[in-house]
Amino acid sequence: MISDEIRVRFAPSPTGFLHVGGARTAIFNWLFARKNKGKFLLRIEDTDAERSKSQLSQQIISSMHWLGMNEDEPIVFQALNISRHKEIAMELLKNKKAYYAFETPEELEEQRKTAQQNKIPFKYNRASLNLTEETIQKYLSEGRQYALRFKVPDGITEFDDIVHGKTTFGNSEIEDFVILRSNGSPVYMIAVVVDDHDMKISHIIRGDDHLSNTPKQIMLYNALGWEVPKFAHLPMILDEQKKKLSKRRNPVSADEYKNKGYLPEALFNFLTLLGFAPFNNREVISRQELINEFTFERVNKKSAVFDMKKLNWINSEYIKSADENKLLELVKQSPAAAENNIEPANFSDDYFLQVINIIKERLQTINEIYHYGDYFFKDPIKYDEKGIEKHWNDEIKPIFISYQKLLENCLDWNSDKIEAELRDFANKNNVKAAAIIHLLRLAITGKTVSPGIFDVMVILGKNTVYTRINKFIDFN
Ligand code: GLU
Repeated sequence: MISDEIRVRFAPSPTGFLHVGGARTAIFNWLFARKNKGKFLLRIEDTDAERSKSQLSQQIISSMHWLGMNEDEPIVFQALNISRHKEIAMELLKNKKAYYAFETPEELEEQRKTAQQNKIPFKYNRASLNLTEETIQKYLSEGRQYALRFKVPDGITEFDDIVHGKTTFGNSEIEDFVILRSNGSPVYMIAVVVDDHDMKISHIIRGDDHLSNTPKQIMLYNALGWEVPKFAHLPMILDEQKKKLSKRRNPVSADEYKNKGYLPEALFNFLTLLGFAPFNNREVISRQELINEFTFERVNKKSAVFDMKKLNWINSEYIKSADENKLLELVKQSPAAAENNIEPANFSDDYFLQVINIIKERLQTINEIYHYGDYFFKDPIKYDEKGIEKHWNDEIKPIFISYQKLLENCLDWNSDKIEAELRDFANKNNVKAAAIIHLLRLAITGKTVSPGIFDVMVILGKNTVYTRINKFIDFN
């Protein structure tokens, strides 16, 4: 008996990292549980010993926790339940809801090929269903290999999908599917039903790709006399070319987004919008608001598009409003530091905080601090060519050199003072202040864009600024 309590589960197979599509499924389960004061459970479907690796299970679990979705009960590892799955398969056999099938894989392959040649969809021909008890016993005593197949009843299978509405399948289209392989291992179809039943799952929320499994699972529930949970199948996620998300085009694992400097709250927020529409179509919306607003009535049936630009924008919004100490930790841990040959330990927290505060308005990801803001951590090794072409010439060179002398004597190293002196100097030398500012920016950052250059100069300190200008003059 399923209790009145809402109990949902996320059931990833650990054959890879946590895919963003899987993470979105997990999020909808989690939001539904939190909204309804229910339980959110995690089940690792690791029965495929060849493809599942325990390291990947751990990776998935840590990505789930990174995204802020903790399980409410101990994690279930499906492989530990295999004997229970077998026991239930044997019970179906005993109750004549399943039967021995003695076809060898070669025979089945042959039948499949014939069907293909005749251009008809292959469906198991039920030959073993008609074996006499005597023949079965004979085959068993000969030690023939067998699989157990579920005997699909006549009629139709119907259910009310929470997202798609009434969904009907004709049972005649479904073959007598295998529940126990000839090597004795139970298949996904039965394992998932047994575990969902044993875990008292009330709602199965998963991707549309599982829709065609649902009638088979409902038949198993019915054959076992178990209460059928409710189902909600979520729309698929496509990329901007309306194709299945592919590693070749975009990162697909939550882990990659973490390593690229996306905030978990931002990724969570973004993934929720893939199929769910908050009130007033808000796009930046807190986790608590999402919990409050979550309802399947606002979940779309149509596939959702993974829009990288939107994710970047949402991430930049979260960076802008994040606590500075939290940003500090993320910046110090970012793998982009090593990628840019920068050693965070060489800089103080106070220094990092100054850099973060001046640059965070411009960041789409945490990692960009080391790309766009690399000059805060090391001298530029080259200068933007277009900038040089536009701003550097023989006329300005002596003026810039004498400006450097002035700067050297600047006693009060604050941005107002530096700016006032620069403007005054430009005036006296009959050049535009901007002409010197452009060069200062090029010399100090190597780039033509940066946050306010006087603030950058204050953060870097007089010595660094002076040597960079020297280097620039020598170089050009
Ligand atoms: N383990 C299955 C998968 O990774 C999900 C099973 C389910 O949700 O029913 O696709």
